[in-house]
Amino acid sequence: MMRRLLVFGCASGIAAAAETDIASQRLVGAALLDGAAYATVASLTDQVGSRLAGTPGAERAVVWALSAMKQAGLTHVHTEPVRVERWVRGEAEAALVAPFAHPLHVVALGGSVATPREGLEGELVEASSFEELKALGPRVAGRIVLLNRPMMRNGESFGGYGDVAPLRRFGAVEAARLGARAVLIRSLGTGAYRLPHTGAMQYQEGVAKIPFAALAAEDAELLHRALAQGVAQVRLRLTCHLDGEVDSANVIGEVKGRERPDEIVLLGAHLDSWDLGTGAIDDGAGCGMVIAAARLIAQLGAPRRTVRVALFMNEERGLSGARAYAADHRAELVRHVAALEADSGAGRPLGFAVVGGAASVALLSRWAAPLSGLRASAVQTTEEAGADLIPLHEAGVPAFMLRQDLSSYFDWHHTAADTLDKIDPFELHLATAAIAVVARAAAESVDLLPRISAGHQQQ
Ligand SMILES: [Zn+2]
Repeated sequence: MMRRLLVFGCASGIAAAAETDIASQRLVGAALLDGAAYATVASLTDQVGSRLAGTPGAERAVVWALSAMKQAGLTHVHTEPVRVERWVRGEAEAALVAPFAHPLHVVALGGSVATPREGLEGELVEASSFEELKALGPRVAGRIVLLNRPMMRNGESFGGYGDVAPLRRFGAVEAARLGARAVLIRSLGTGAYRLPHTGAMQYQEGVAKIPFAALAAEDAELLHRALAQGVAQVRLRLTCHLDGEVDSANVIGEVKGRERPDEIVLLGAHLDSWDLGTGAIDDGAGCGMVIAAARLIAQLGAPRRTVRVALFMNEERGLSGARAYAADHRAELVRHVAALEADSGAGRPLGFAVVGGAASVALLSRWAAPLSGLRASAVQTTEEAGADLIPLHEAGVPAFMLRQDLSSYFDWHHTAADTLDKIDPFELHLATAAIAVVARAAAESVDLLPRISAGHQQQ
C-alpha cells in the first residue's frame, strides 16, 4: 500500500521537528541517567535466574515481567497463553577414549534425545559441511559424526552465526539419514574459553532421532587433530529428554496512545532463555531495554499511537510465543504499524536494519536522525529483524531492529557464561536510548513504514 505523503506547512514542519529534537534529547538523557534498563535486567537475572521455557524459572519470569511492567508505569499489563514443549537437560558427558583418554566439554542441544543409559561409544568421522558429510557416504553408518566448522567473528551482523546455524539445526537429521549413531558439533561461538554453547536443533518425521551435543571449540580442534593421526574413538552419555507440553505465557504491557490508541508500535524481546547461564545478554538485555524504553516514552506523555511491549515466551525452542501472539492478534495485525525486537545482546547501538526497501530505509532514517550524535542513525535493509517477528512480518507488519555491536556477543551466547557481568551498563543504556527515540518517532509519525508483502517485497 502506498502511503500518502502529507505536506506540512513550513511553520508546523519546523515546530514538529523541534519537538522531535527536544523529545529525543530528553529520552537519550533520561536513558543514560536513570539506569532503568540495567536495573531491570539485573533484577531478572539475579532474582529469577535462567528461564528455559517449560521450567519453573520461566514461570517465575512471567510473574517477574508482570511486576516489572507495572513498576515501569505500563498499563493493560497481562499475560496471554502459550503452549510450550518441555525438555529436560539432564546430564551430559563425553570423552575421547582413543588414541588417548581426554575429557570433552559438551552440552546437549535443546530438544535432543538421550543416549542409551550407559552411554555409547564409537568411531568418529568428521565433516565441515553437509556436502562433506554426504561425500563420506557409507563411512558414516554406525559412527559418531563430528560437525566441525569454525564460526567467523563479525561485530556488525549475524552473518557468521547464520553461516553455521543450519549445521546445528539440521545436523542430527542429515547424520541420521546416513546411519550415524550420534552427532557432536563444534559450538556455534567465537570464544575460546573451552565453553560449549547450547542451542536449538530439530528432528524430522521418518528419520531416526539420534543424540546431538555441542562441544567446546578447543575440543573440536583436539578431535580434528586426533583424527588426522588415524582413528579416534569417542564416548558420549546424555540423559536429556522431552517431557510433554505445559502452559506458559507471553507478557504484554502498553503505553496507551492519545490519538490513535488502536494503532500499535510493538517493542518485543524474549523472556525465556537457555538454562546454562542466567540469560543476561540473551535476552535479559532485550527485556530490560524494551521495558525501559516504554517507560521513558510514557514519562514524556502519551504518544499518538500505542507503544506495546511484548515479552515472548519460548523463542529459543520453537517460537511458540511469537506464533501464539500472531494468531491471537491476527485481526489487529493490520494496525501494527511497526515492530522491533531487541534480541541482539547489550552492545552499543550501531544503527537500524529494516525489512523492506528504499522507502522503509528513508523513513526510518528520518526517525533515527536524532541519534547521529550517538553514531546510531545509519539504516540498512535486512531479511529478518528478529526471530519472534517472523510471524508478524509474514502477516505484513513492518519489522525493524536496532543493530548493536556484536563483537563479543557470540563469545558468551548460549553458554554458562551468559551472565550479568557481560553487560556494560553504558552501552546498554545507549542502546535503550536508540530504541526509545525511534519507537517514539514511529508512534508519533504522520508517515508509516510500507507494509511487507509475501517474500518481503514491498507493495
Ligand atoms: Zn535471543
